[in-house]
Amino acid sequence: MKNLLKIYNPIKLNLLYKYRNLSYKIHKVSYYKFYCKCNINKEFLEFIDFIEHIRISHNIKDINLDLLNKIIPNYNKKKFGVKFYWGLHCTCGNSFTSSLCNADLIIKDGKITLLRLYKLYCIKCKKIADFKYKNILDKYLEERVLQKLIYKQYKDVFSKYDQNKDYKELLEGHKPELCEKCRLSKSGHCWED
Ligand SMILES: [Zn+2]
Ligand SMILES: [Zn+2]
Ligand SMILES: [Zn+2]
Repeated sequence: MKNLLKIYNPIKLNLLYKYRNLSYKIHKVSYYKFYCKCNINKEFLEFIDFIEHIRISHNIKDINLDLLNKIIPNYNKKKFGVKFYWGLHCTCGNSFTSSLCNADLIIKDGKITLLRLYKLYCIKCKKIADFKYKNILDKYLEERVLQKLIYKQYKDVFSKYDQNKDYKELLEGHKPELCEKCRLSKSGHCWED
């Protein structure tokens, strides 16, 4: 079950985040993007675009938001770890992006609830930094859980994209000493969880 939470292996993650950094520099605004595990180079600006991709490219014709909402209660009490890319700012004035942020969410009473947003520390002053655009982030994390639900619900379609696992590669630019999740991980590396 734990493996299902790992959508991408770190090498792919590395490429993914390089790509996201690049695209962030170009667009200068949006962290809010979705990728399908079948092709991490193709980005979807909205969750609904991702759903459309699932419908067309993976031939799951009946998929839509209503159906997903009906699926949610089937996974009651299930926890999901989400890894994502986001922007942060610190009271010292430092603004930065992290290629590897972590959150835990849970399905409870038919709803997706944020359990924990792991802290990241500012590289300049070592204080805890704040995540930007908190309400966009909350929605984004919920949709990332919905994305995982799709992969679980349609395992037969997506399991073939999970085979290649290699956790040795270090994520470029991610500093374990500045990441709460790394500090809490047995391995000392949040990407191995
Ligand atoms: Zn796909
Ligand atoms: Zn700072
Ligand atoms: Zn970490």
